[in-house]
Amino acid sequence: MIIAVDGPVAAGKGTLAKRIAAKYGYTYLDTGALYRAVGLFMLRHKQDPSDHALAAAAARNVHEISLDDPDLRKEETGNAASVVAVNNDVRAALLDYQRSVAKHRDGAVLDGRDIGTVVCPNADVKLFVTASSEERAHRRLAELVAKGETTSYEAVLKDLEERDARDRSRTSAPLAKADDAHLLDTTKLDIEAALEAACRIIDASKG
Ligand code: C5P
Repeated sequence: MIIAVDGPVAAGKGTLAKRIAAKYGYTYLDTGALYRAVGLFMLRHKQDPSDHALAAAAARNVHEISLDDPDLRKEETGNAASVVAVNNDVRAALLDYQRSVAKHRDGAVLDGRDIGTVVCPNADVKLFVTASSEERAHRRLAELVAKGETTSYEAVLKDLEERDARDRSRTSAPLAKADDAHLLDTTKLDIEAALEAACRIIDASKG
């Protein structure tokens, strides 16, 4: 069983995907963390994330960064991730690993931007999780404040809209809803309600 969970920044897809994986006993992969690791590798080596050749080399050396590194969650790293994510060679370097996790014998939930469209086009269930930009900015701001980062609602909203625009407009594997994905708008849903809606879709697909 492969479940693809895609959507824009801070739509709640990570929390939802993790909860789905825990509920059904599937393995979970946050594919954004892979792009963040490439971005963080470049920031730590004082490299420009928009340098094509350096970013491709960083993607091949990405195992140097632990996927538990707390700096992965910083806004600066997220922005660098979305810059390296436009690079075809970076995407190609990360593809095999994502597909190998998807084949896990217990089942897998992958969340990202292109799971339903590119990484796992044959996923058994595809969810496209969205929420209004304003709601997503409020959620992201609360997360950042909880981690002690100082920023404003306006700065977070601007960052999030810029990142979404870059993710949607890139030519390689842009952020997009797969035709056969179920749209889940979480603007007015808390995590429990979103999980319930997702489980209804998953259970229905199991027949
Ligand atoms: O989901 P998260 O915010 O951690 O992702 C960071 C960045 O990585 C995204 O803005 C996007 O540019 C990129 N990404 C991607 N494809 C994925 C997952 C993330 O391009 N499957």
